[in-house]
Amino acid sequence: MGAIQGSIFASSKRLQMTDSIDLTVQSLQAHAVEHDHWCIAWSGGKDSSATLTLIMWLLDSGRIPRPKSLTVFYADTRMELPPLAIAARQIMDDLRERGIEVQVVRAPMDKRFFVYILGRGVPPPNNNTLRWCTRQIKVDPMSAAVEHMLGIAGKALMITGVRQGESAIRDARIEMSCSKDGAECGQGWYQQVLPNAKGVRGRIATLAPLLHWRVCHVWEWLKHWAPTAEFGDWSTAMIADAYGGDEAEEINARTGCVGCPLAQEDTALKTVLQNPKWAHLEPLLRLKPLYRELREPRHRIKKAGLDRLKDGSIAKNPQRMGPLTFEARMTGLDRVLAIQAEINAHGPSIDILDAEEESRIRELIALKTWPDGWDGDEPLADTVMDTVYQNGSVQPLLFGATA
Ligand code: SF4
Repeated sequence: MGAIQGSIFASSKRLQMTDSIDLTVQSLQAHAVEHDHWCIAWSGGKDSSATLTLIMWLLDSGRIPRPKSLTVFYADTRMELPPLAIAARQIMDDLRERGIEVQVVRAPMDKRFFVYILGRGVPPPNNNTLRWCTRQIKVDPMSAAVEHMLGIAGKALMITGVRQGESAIRDARIEMSCSKDGAECGQGWYQQVLPNAKGVRGRIATLAPLLHWRVCHVWEWLKHWAPTAEFGDWSTAMIADAYGGDEAEEINARTGCVGCPLAQEDTALKTVLQNPKWAHLEPLLRLKPLYRELREPRHRIKKAGLDRLKDGSIAKNPQRMGPLTFEARMTGLDRVLAIQAEINAHGPSIDILDAEEESRIRELIALKTWPDGWDGDEPLADTVMDTVYQNGSVQPLLFGATA
């Protein structure tokens, strides 16, 4: 009885998968085949990896016609979960073996995550006022790479892994928020922000052919379909395993940078750590608290009073907290290097901060670099001072500053 029931469930799942794939084929036939040049914005996470490998299978099996050119852009933030970075490398090797052009897209040195924080002194991003990371390490490098490609191709279609499940069919709204559990950071931005980027505007269309896929189908594809010879023999099971294997759907971890300061919890990393093969990555759990600590006033400077912006206007927030002190940056650098060294002494090595990045961070600190609008003679952010309001009025300290 159990076996019969099991096979009924299995075959109904297969039917649902086939329906989802059929809808994807219809979406590609309706919107993609008219374009000569296709690109895929891939970040190594679950949705974009499912999109990439499914499209490869649809092309290889002749279910959709081949475009004149196909370029896969891998968004390498340098902050990927190690098992995902390894899976991405294997998939890139396979793509290249099949003659597919793959470009690895990275932010320029001074804009990379750690160089920007520890070298230039910009505090780690947060959900409120300072979310600089997605645009800087994902969207801007991608639009630069696409702009370069458009110089040759003229126009192109950008395929993204945006996925909304059934709600997409109801309201056709694309969520930009990727701080939610289960989401893949960056894909909504590629879908919505990228087509309007300078240098690209008007020359790319975007398409999300897995928009309607339910998350269980994404896991099913990555874990059980794509790795088989029939569907392309892709190294995608590792991605599903990193997110909890068959329990991935319940765990519903967000896909993005390791230790992402915008996520509530390091769910993906904690899930990976349960696998003995990856237990040596445990020191990565120290990244999130480090980011939190670096945002504290004692590690930053602040404006002493009214802050005039470049255009002469007065900033909304007088006495706002700003960049990291040099001491904080050096402490941060030492801690990240210690985390990396500890991991590399106990298992397959990681490379979240390489020698070139380290030396650039040290150079920027030695050059006494401050972000635009700061010159370093501002007071420490934990200095007790009179309060200055935006209208210029000052409320003196109640008891005066004590020596
Ligand atoms: S995953 Fe987190 S840290 Fe990485 S770009 Fe997205 S929001 Fe920023």
